Amino acid sequence: MSKPSARYRRIILKISGESLCPPGGFGLQRAALDRIAAEIGEVVALGVQVAVVVGGGNFLRGANVADDLGVARATADYMGMLATVLNALALQEALERNGHPVRVQNALTIERVGEPFDRRRCLRHLEKGRVVILGGGTGNPHVTTDSCASIRGIELGVDVLLKGTKVDGVYDDDPARNPDAKLFETVTHEQIVNGRLRVMDLGAIEMCEQYRLPVIVFNLFKPGTLRRIILGEPLGTRVSPA
Ligand code: UDP
Repeated sequence: MSKPSARYRRIILKISGESLCPPGGFGLQRAALDRIAAEIGEVVALGVQVAVVVGGGNFLRGANVADDLGVARATADYMGMLATVLNALALQEALERNGHPVRVQNALTIERVGEPFDRRRCLRHLEKGRVVILGGGTGNPHVTTDSCASIRGIELGVDVLLKGTKVDGVYDDDPARNPDAKLFETVTHEQIVNGRLRVMDLGAIEMCEQYRLPVIVFNLFKPGTLRRIILGEPLGTRVSPA
């Protein structure tokens, strides 16, 4: 039987730190790591090249902790970037346990725990079928890993940025608070920017708009959704250029 055919050749997947810990919890959980690794593995098995950007919110987000800890915002952001490296290392092992070749490339230089990010080397790994986990965000404070996903997605020439979330896609209101919030099947980058719809950081979505990189916002917590999207099913919300 022939392999089902993937719609995309190369993708960048943004996952939040929260997807790697118990629901509503903190830190890391093996079951969560294995689940995400399996979701990624299903897509790799389709022959898709996968770069993964991991967040660090299961440990900390700079904007939330700087004041509480009495540290400069930039310091808190570097702490957040280090948190993403913790997640990258844990996810790397989970993928390996599931039999998938994988490399971590970090934007912060800590070479004993991963390669430094190198675009050409990253592309080579991807072409060889290795998953590349991008740790350390952009390496710069005052942005989040959403910006990392946009920048790296563009420089790696991906076909689409997949943003995994806790909800089914982009809504006209917060679905956690408003049960009548309407889910968009498709939306333009411009509509998101102008309507201040909560999808990802404004700067990140503006960059995707500028470079015409499509984004699909989907529910990472519904098993199999990622694979189904890769196979072309219209799940989640597709963000396309106008
Ligand atoms: N961060 C940063 N620069 C980056 C990426 C991340 O300063 O390029 C910091 C920032 O404080 C951020 C934290 O790392 O809040 C964790 O990343 P993020 O909030 O994107 O994690 P997520 O919410 O996706 O788990």
